Amino acid sequence: MSLINIRRDVQDSFYRYKMPKLQSKFEGKGNGKKTVIPNMIEISQALSRPPSYPTKYFGTVLGAQVQIEEKNDRYIVNGAHEAAKLQDILDGFIEKFVLCGSCKSPETDLIIKDSIIIKNCMACGKRTDVDMRHRLSTYILKNPPPKNKKAGQHAAPDPTTGAGIIESRNGSDDDDEFANQLAEDAAKLNIADEDSDKWDIDADISEEAVARRQRALAGGFNGVDGNDEESDGPYDQLGDFISTGENLTDKEIFNKAKDLGLSKKHRALIVIVQCLFKEKDILSQITNHAQLLISFGNSEKHQKAILGSFEKLVSEIFPSLLPKTGHIFKALYENDIIEEDAFLAWNEKPSKKYTTRENSKKVHEAAARFIQWIREAEEEDSDEDSDEDSE
Ligand SMILES: [Zn+2]
Repeated sequence: MSLINIRRDVQDSFYRYKMPKLQSKFEGKGNGKKTVIPNMIEISQALSRPPSYPTKYFGTVLGAQVQIEEKNDRYIVNGAHEAAKLQDILDGFIEKFVLCGSCKSPETDLIIKDSIIIKNCMACGKRTDVDMRHRLSTYILKNPPPKNKKAGQHAAPDPTTGAGIIESRNGSDDDDEFANQLAEDAAKLNIADEDSDKWDIDADISEEAVARRQRALAGGFNGVDGNDEESDGPYDQLGDFISTGENLTDKEIFNKAKDLGLSKKHRALIVIVQCLFKEKDILSQITNHAQLLISFGNSEKHQKAILGSFEKLVSEIFPSLLPKTGHIFKALYENDIIEEDAFLAWNEKPSKKYTTRENSKKVHEAAARFIQWIREAEEEDSDEDSDEDSE
């Protein structure tokens, strides 16, 4: 199966959202000619939409009749249409009915509210509108997305292709409800965000200044030993590299850490989280840098270091992110950076290692709803056979 980026305008082979390349098969003759899309199910799963939606979309764009035979898994467009052409048309469907209107993440669900279709983004928390004049919108209103999708239970993604990540968000009803609650929290927060430019009060707003400020606030890297007075240890060098670098790629950061002998050190993650992550669009940053965080290893120690660093990030460095803690943790979970067990262990044993006791308490409170959700998810999981690979 050949996988392509869901957003084909993104060239990056590390882009995490993949889908199978569309296949087409011709059947029939003359006026009865038709095009079968044998892998429509797989494509629609990757896009987290019912297979009837993209099929119907082809029909509306091509002005062709479609046949949707869900029982037989047959998705057919009348007439002969090359796979490449359908793939191009699919781009339009993805743009209009999948990608978040704000951050362009494909991690969205469709919600219907008062006869309006909304894309609810898991990555940035924003809700954006779908063009209600489009003929497919009418179809979606008549055939709303199924409520109860019991599909993937956080399927382990293939680390090389990223396939499977999308499936992991087809949760249960609880999951949807939880996502809705979080989105509501986020919606409130977004309004507040626009008003509060507290970082700009006395600041030069250059990226570099923000980064320096972030590091100064971080007060050194809690949890990193042997980093007291000396400021030229490998961890500081890594921190300086990230804070002062411009448009660094994850690869450049990882290579620097490697040169400094830190490529397997969980403490390097503390430096990375505190220096790399910015206040704005934190959720998409997590998705974008997931591969980097995972590259250092995923032992208990590694996960603890990441979680602790985020604890500091949302309580001390960017306190405005505190109400978003549930979202942030969910993003860490869905990008396979932190596993259930690590969250539960973190919840059981609050630590002062990364931030003050008071701050830690605030973060635990902010994360309570998420922890509850993860606990329920794990209970469900334990009924099933899970054999995830652990490296
Ligand atoms: Zn978004």
